[in-house]
Amino acid sequence: MVVMAQNRLPMWPRPWALVVALLVLLACGQPVWAFQLPPLPYAADALEPAIDARTMTIHHDRHHAGYVKALNAAVAADPALAELSLEQLLARGARLPEVVRNNAGGHWNHSQFWTAMAPPGQGGEPSEALTGAIEASFGSLAGLREQFSAAAASRFGSGWAWLILKPNGELAITSSANQDNPLMGLRGSGRGTPLLGLDVWEHAYYLNYQNRRPDYIEAWWSLLNWDELNHRYAAARAPS
Ligand code: MN
Repeated sequence: MVVMAQNRLPMWPRPWALVVALLVLLACGQPVWAFQLPPLPYAADALEPAIDARTMTIHHDRHHAGYVKALNAAVAADPALAELSLEQLLARGARLPEVVRNNAGGHWNHSQFWTAMAPPGQGGEPSEALTGAIEASFGSLAGLREQFSAAAASRFGSGWAWLILKPNGELAITSSANQDNPLMGLRGSGRGTPLLGLDVWEHAYYLNYQNRRPDYIEAWWSLLNWDELNHRYAAARAPS
């Protein structure tokens, strides 16, 4: 009996074909990069009017991509760092070479930034557990918003504002310079698990808001992805 061609497995890909493809890549001198730029989880214009499409495109496709590219180059040049995960790199904090610290921070910070936002009206609501923790630390959601916005507005120069879960289980607000973050354990940047980070570098808002950083911060609250934040809070509290 003749086996119908359409009932057979497709010829491609076969395991040997994947091996050949990998060998070709290696032979061409193309390194397999450790870190990858994650795609935006929504269209570039999905956050308008709070954040315009051009800002999103430049921010993701050039700034974040630039951190990933520089990080890959830096760790590839340093065998002691090449085997470490992003979180393992960040945990080294002040002991990292400056180029690795800046670009590892830039990659991690922006990766959490994109997913912490959602198109207006699609971010859900804070969970009961997170609401309770916010009320315990800040009195109310309005209190969190007020203190977080103040930290973001007053961070001098380029940096980030953070909501963190401290090792003692309390929430706290902090901020960091440049691409530092609370995973680095640096003095003055807070120490804990970051739940939410807001980028206050001028590249994050200048096209639309120029020097009006407080207006950008105010508009950003309309984009908060509470579903993601609920998930991060639950994960951070889960026994490891
Ligand atoms: Mn940025």
